[in-house]
Amino acid sequence: MLPISFITQLGNLLPPERLLTDPVDCYAYAYDNSRKIFPPGAVAFPITSAEVQGIVALCNGYEIPLTPRGRGTGTSGGSLPEQGGVALSLERMLRIISVDPANRVIVAEPGVLNQSVQDAAKPHGFFWPPDPSSAAYSSIGGNLATSAGGPHAVKYGTTRDHVLGLKAVTGGGELIKTGCYTTKGVVGYDLTRLLIGSEGTLAVITEATLKLTSLPQTRAGLIAYYRDARSCASAIVQIMALPQGPSALEFLDAGSLDLIRRRSPDMLPPNALAMLMIEVDGAFSYIAESRAVILAACRNTGLIHAEEAADASALWRARKTLSPLLRDIAPKKINEDVVVPVSALPEFLDGLAQLSNKYRIANINFGHAGNGNIHVNLLVNPDIADEMDRAERCLNEIFDLVIGLNGTLSGEHGVGSEKRAYIGKEIDAPTLALMKEIKRVFDPRNILNPGKLFP
Ligand SMILES: Cc1cc2nc3c(=O)[nH]c(=O)nc-3n(C[C@H](O)[C@H](O)[C@H](O)COP(=O)(O)OP(=O)(O)OC[C@H]3O[C@@H](n4cnc5c(N)ncnc54)[C@H](O)[C@@H]3O)c2cc1C
Repeated sequence: MLPISFITQLGNLLPPERLLTDPVDCYAYAYDNSRKIFPPGAVAFPITSAEVQGIVALCNGYEIPLTPRGRGTGTSGGSLPEQGGVALSLERMLRIISVDPANRVIVAEPGVLNQSVQDAAKPHGFFWPPDPSSAAYSSIGGNLATSAGGPHAVKYGTTRDHVLGLKAVTGGGELIKTGCYTTKGVVGYDLTRLLIGSEGTLAVITEATLKLTSLPQTRAGLIAYYRDARSCASAIVQIMALPQGPSALEFLDAGSLDLIRRRSPDMLPPNALAMLMIEVDGAFSYIAESRAVILAACRNTGLIHAEEAADASALWRARKTLSPLLRDIAPKKINEDVVVPVSALPEFLDGLAQLSNKYRIANINFGHAGNGNIHVNLLVNPDIADEMDRAERCLNEIFDLVIGLNGTLSGEHGVGSEKRAYIGKEIDAPTLALMKEIKRVFDPRNILNPGKLFP
């Protein structure tokens, strides 16, 4: 329960239509795509940086937890108000402040949807490269706070690579300005990159200067079907070693293909047990050459066949729905987004199959293979205690396998609450201690998303 005097003062900062305190209304802000539920005591909808500052100052005074929230599509529990307090919904900070083609920049508030940025950039011949599958309904603030990435990260990188500067309110209540408006700039520490991916634990992002990229002249698709996952993984290694890299390279395992067959029985060859969806982009003159060399790299003894896909849109749609479709076949999925170096993918996929057998836990794996980023989904029934126990032990060994292969525990979803128990596997004690010190400097009273990220 929040103190009455606190609610009264919050009410002095925001008009009634931008503050929820009724528990029934607040419940809509209690969950994210981790499917856990932690209701906040109030939900605040600021529309200016000054209002954000006022709310942060008030929460500091009362030491009330404050959880920034975009659209709640995150899968790691980042926007869950685990310790109650206030959910700070940035969804009404919706202005695209400027579109500046000469400087290849868009300045936007955090509540703007990723897709709205793409729509604003396109008429000028540009796009903003971060392209999570949730682009139509996730916010720029959420994308920044998780350093989101999607299929095109293999060529263009993730959110961290496409932001010039930020305005943000620290946990201490200071409005800070990081980075600059230009594509070159080395004055001071790079706080922009520090805040990106910090999952709302250091500061609330209130404005972002986004760096745009020219739209490619054209795109072309290739599809390759394999008899087994290992030969498919070997092809990935060959493709990524080429100078003519793809603009997207997605891997689907046998379980993923079965999921697609359930909806579209005739879409895939019956004997395919793994598949690559490949895209190349660039100038018309470049496409034919890059497609030919990539096609050659796809060929190995496990290849069933590879084909040019003039219109692969139905398959891309199917790929994007894989994650929600998993709920059709299991009551619960433990959904990870680990990354290993591309050259280690064959060994990693073999290891996953062995662990799945050892612990008798079904898994379905797909993902952004060109980055070595695989969505590992352990399919379980939460009502069977023994199965949940085996799944936990299986997951623990999967993380050990990833770290042993020089990989990382999360490529795009972040740590949030879901992975915080494991981050000591990846980050050593002195580095973790330095991170906690940084958190203390930004957020001395530990009000911003408390308890997240750290074990
Ligand atoms: C179907 C589906 C597909 C997805 N596909 C992808 C994908 O391809 N790639 C990918 O990277 N992710 C993907 N995601 C995950 C999710 O969409 C991303 O993490 C997205 O960036 C979250 O945006 P959001 O607005 O929903 O943020 P939320 O979930 O509301 O918040 C995410 C985190 O950001 C913090 N935060 C939000 N706004 C701010 C702010 N203004 N200042 C400071 N902190 C803030 C929150 O505290 C939280 O820690 C997918 C999710 C779904 C449901």
